[in-house]
Amino acid sequence: MLFKQIIGQDFLKEKLVNMAQTGRISHTQLFVGPEGSGNLALALAFAQYVNCLQPLTEDSCGQCASCVKFQKLVHPDLHFTYPTISPYKQSKELAEDWREALLKNTYLSDFDWLQTLDNNANKQGNITREECREIISKLGLTSYEAKFKTQIIWQAEYLDTAGNILLKLLEEPPLGTLIILVASNTERVLPTILSRAQTIKIPKLTDSDIELALQKDHQCTPQKATDISRLADGNYNLALSLLEIEHDGYFETFSQWMRFCFSGKVDELQKWVDEISGSGREYVKNFLGYTSQMIRAAFIYKYGDRQLLRVNEQELQFLIKFSSFLSAGNLSEITTSLDDAVYSTERNANLKILFLNLSLYIGRQLKSAQKAA
Ligand SMILES: [Zn+2]
Repeated sequence: MLFKQIIGQDFLKEKLVNMAQTGRISHTQLFVGPEGSGNLALALAFAQYVNCLQPLTEDSCGQCASCVKFQKLVHPDLHFTYPTISPYKQSKELAEDWREALLKNTYLSDFDWLQTLDNNANKQGNITREECREIISKLGLTSYEAKFKTQIIWQAEYLDTAGNILLKLLEEPPLGTLIILVASNTERVLPTILSRAQTIKIPKLTDSDIELALQKDHQCTPQKATDISRLADGNYNLALSLLEIEHDGYFETFSQWMRFCFSGKVDELQKWVDEISGSGREYVKNFLGYTSQMIRAAFIYKYGDRQLLRVNEQELQFLIKFSSFLSAGNLSEITTSLDDAVYSTERNANLKILFLNLSLYIGRQLKSAQKAA
């Protein structure tokens, strides 16, 4: 991965290159940034840069023997750890799947990855005790050819108490070793690990970074790129999913849903629930994210600075009417219930039951606001 292939984050790229050039490379680092920010991509580009045999002033050469192997993810001194699901216990058992998923999308989320392993996303991901022991034994061996034997631990949040096995290694890795932990949320990383790594904070992407990338790399029209980047809210992985599933479809589904929730006509609602439940978890998850953004947008329309609205014309027309069903009281109730639903969707909840309960709940919330008004 070259730095120039990564979207935005110019400030960080410069900082990382500078770190490498001045030789101030901390041997245990934590790259932390929200989903779709490019945290893993930056870790890869950094690892490639410090190992490049003819580094340029701003990027790896992309052509030396080391770069070529890094780009194909086959360098013998580049090791990955990522969450696995049972019956797998170690990352190496899934090396082929991982390489394929990563070469396809360096911005992938843990949910995407676990779904490639298990379509129904039934199983919990985990970085196991066996994997932690494997890391220690791998890094104890001398490197084949690299300047820095590199271990990338992706989704460090999945290191639960097993992660404590690694503490000594993280504190004092063998000479010539670079360990990069990659995480989305430091609150879910073991504090004992946090305290042993130098943290590199990665901000979410800007709308214009995403817009440009969609136009340049995916031949998106400027209007569509603008619409998608507004919804993606700095998450390039989400932008890619939205690009795949025409998001116009979301609006129709969302506006219908809100009408059914409010009208309380059970047969119509049941039909809608059946349909959405059959759409696959990835779609459902993105749709819930979209719904959450629309609810927040309606709230901004009603109470906030309308300049901040991130919606297109069709959505705006809907929100103007819809906002009268929202109040300061029910906004957080509804958005919390949607966030909970995303969480349950990722964890194999029964979607029909989930949507039915959620619809009834949202219906009640919308009605209570209207009564209060
Ligand atoms: Zn190179």
